[in-house]
Amino acid sequence: MSVLIVGSMALDTVETATGRVENALGGAATFAGMAAALFTRVRLCGVVGEDFPPHELEALSNRGIDLAGVERAAGKTFHWSGVYSHDFTHRETLDTQLNVFEHFHPKLPDDWRDSEYVFLANIHPALQLAVLEQTKRPRLVFCDTMNLWIDSQPEQVLEVLRNVDVAFMNDEEARAICNTHHLVLAGRKLLTMGPKIVVIKKGEHGAMLFSQDDYFVAPSYPVEMLVDPTGAGDTFAGGFIGYLDQTGNHSPQNLRRALVYGSIVASFAVESFSVERLRSVTPGDIAERYDRFRRIIEYH
Ligand code: AMP
Repeated sequence: MSVLIVGSMALDTVETATGRVENALGGAATFAGMAAALFTRVRLCGVVGEDFPPHELEALSNRGIDLAGVERAAGKTFHWSGVYSHDFTHRETLDTQLNVFEHFHPKLPDDWRDSEYVFLANIHPALQLAVLEQTKRPRLVFCDTMNLWIDSQPEQVLEVLRNVDVAFMNDEEARAICNTHHLVLAGRKLLTMGPKIVVIKKGEHGAMLFSQDDYFVAPSYPVEMLVDPTGAGDTFAGGFIGYLDQTGNHSPQNLRRALVYGSIVASFAVESFSVERLRSVTPGDIAERYDRFRRIIEYH
């Protein structure tokens, strides 16, 4: 039981209505890894530079995240900087510095090649494909992406989609890939492009799950303190995948539960900048929100 995750490991500078952080721990693989580690064992593949704080690697490792696939390279860590509108509805990317990711050639440790669950989290689609090529018939392959790659590398993003079982993306990305404003149609169309399961994330408005046999929608958990939405999507995916791996059950009912667990873990991520709140989440905290969530969406 373990999930292999490849994606960005970053130092982020983020500004929201509640404040600003500089060079804080971030990255798609970091958020997803911390979320999945709440449910299962995690193998992380990525690269960090010389400026990446050693104590952060130690903290990840202390959570049971195996870092044998994380390369420490000469140069600076991937850096992303963004600012949110006052009402948190829009995000502007101010800067993306690939840095050590520019020359990164992922190499999986030999005993990771048979990983059963593989998450290609947000990073250049060529790197996602390079990792997938090194795996041996995983049980489930998941992917996420970002507008930057949809705009700049559309063919490679489509190639990733053709090779995955489950695709996560946000509403804006789904609209861009499918060239439609209609999310129900976008979900159906994505099911013809490779994945058997499609999850469209809609931020504070929840998430939609599409498969041949099912259609499910859940709201997001009603957080009272919104500080920084960065990484919510990655955390959502990490929680979803971690729960599936923990239970080993891919039934439509369990996929619905996974979506709820994803929403709940993401609800903690947005309560702080960076991964601060995720550091202290306990299984009891998750169980409490899961019960409350069930009561919120109960309907007879
Ligand atoms: P999200 O809010 O779910 O889109 O994820 C935000 C995280 O993605 C931040 O921690 C960033 O470091 C990371 N990120 C931003 N841009 C990219 C990119 N082009 N490739 C990979 N990761 C990125």
